[in-house]
Amino acid sequence: MPLYDTQNIKIYNSLTGEKEPFEPITKGHIGMYVCGPTVYSNVHLGNVRTFMSFDMIFRYFKHLGYKVRYVRNITDAGHLENDADRGEDKITKKARLEAIEPMEIVQRYTVDFHNVLNTFNFLPPSIEPTATGHIIEQIELIQTIIDNGFAYIVNGSVYFDVHKYNESNEYGILSKRKLEDLIHNTRTLDGQSDKKNPQDFALWKKAEPTHIMRWPSPWSDGFPGWHLECTAMSTKYLGEQFDIHGGGMDLKFPHHECEIAQNKAAKGQDPVKYWMHANMLELNGARMSKSTGNYINPAELLSGKNDIMSKGYSPSVVRFFMMQASYKSVLDLTDDGLLAAEKGFNRLMEALKIVGTLKTNDSSSINISEWKQQCYDAMNDDFNTPILIAKLFDAVKFINQVKEGNATISKDDLELLKETLELFSFEILGLQDASKTDNTTVKLTSAVEILINLRKEARLNKDFALSDKIRDELAEAGIQLQDGKDGTTFTTN
Ligand code: AMP
Ligand code: ZN
Repeated sequence: MPLYDTQNIKIYNSLTGEKEPFEPITKGHIGMYVCGPTVYSNVHLGNVRTFMSFDMIFRYFKHLGYKVRYVRNITDAGHLENDADRGEDKITKKARLEAIEPMEIVQRYTVDFHNVLNTFNFLPPSIEPTATGHIIEQIELIQTIIDNGFAYIVNGSVYFDVHKYNESNEYGILSKRKLEDLIHNTRTLDGQSDKKNPQDFALWKKAEPTHIMRWPSPWSDGFPGWHLECTAMSTKYLGEQFDIHGGGMDLKFPHHECEIAQNKAAKGQDPVKYWMHANMLELNGARMSKSTGNYINPAELLSGKNDIMSKGYSPSVVRFFMMQASYKSVLDLTDDGLLAAEKGFNRLMEALKIVGTLKTNDSSSINISEWKQQCYDAMNDDFNTPILIAKLFDAVKFINQVKEGNATISKDDLELLKETLELFSFEILGLQDASKTDNTTVKLTSAVEILINLRKEARLNKDFALSDKIRDELAEAGIQLQDGKDGTTFTTN
């Protein structure tokens, strides 16, 4: 019997605002679409957080035995400056500034994106389609929307008629906005006079003579609107109705709202059963964002070469830090938070190291099967990773008690405990065993841990000359040891 038959997941559905029992459209199968990056610059850690939330979700579904088709696109055309319907294409702009081809920009930042995700131990999605690879599908979709009376053509561009759509549908159903309020609050931008109403959005834009990325269509030489690609690619690979659509919270409006409208206008139904939105990563109390300059790149955080953090952090520490918060909560990236995460991560890894060496007994002081189910319960409750981590730390505490002789564990339970701890730490949370990765920071951290343990042994043997020597020589090398009630930790300068 597959695990998904016994583990009942609840998912917070942004569309209904409720936590709902998860039931896939086809038993045992899950179709999940997540909006991918626009590849015009290096990804920042905010982007990483959103994709990491869905990586964790993907991992858990797979573990439960579902056959998951996970589609995450690459936006390589159609995304204009300020997410608007006019202005320059983000990719073309970068290409112009660097005097290279737009596709060179796409290639460079797609490679960067993949490298970053590999560093953070992401699983690849099942399909990674590009907007430029699906121009034909997008043109077909536009034609259907025109044929159904929900779009109009002006000067070679095609616009979605939001007001017409709203007569028989609810525009704003996902973002809980009302069209009347939007009408009140929309500024009329010059150059948008082609549109019947400012709320309408572009499905196809006629390209200016200087616009490089262009394709022939029945309406003009031009390019698709940004919202359209996700509708075309999600339904192409996952069908007219699929289980989960995800993305960052900032995409709810207008991007996802427009996706729903396009789908209903084309096919008469909302294609998505569960809409999931990951919350934002903040820096200095404000949303991390390329456009405001308030961001930090993964390489800067890992190397410590930045003005914000006191040192570099390993990819697994960053992952652990992110997993300590629910995907639905805002999370502030701080040095203190990362230092605490590093301590926690090291404690977890230490417990994983010693668990195999524990002495067993006839019986166990705690019920390991019950604890294991509590780990599942945390994940089943809308992927509550902070609760899961708290449960893992219950096990860490218990392991240390057994080690000190203050608790007992049977042979079978020890096997189960070890297996479960490894399963949730590595397979589901995607952490990597410090001693098994080839990251230099991680390796050096392990080396310092070894010295800390040798110093502890020296002190137990009352060899204070040696213990002081270890501390002082580490300090000379720029590594300060701090003795606390939970053991010794270190910082670097
Ligand atoms: P973009 O390349 O700007 O389209 O963004 C790619 C993904 O990153 C989208 O799902 C965004 O919602 C997400 N994203 C952007 N900024 C942040 C942030 N500060 N925190 C979390 N996710 C973000
Ligand atoms: Zn999208």
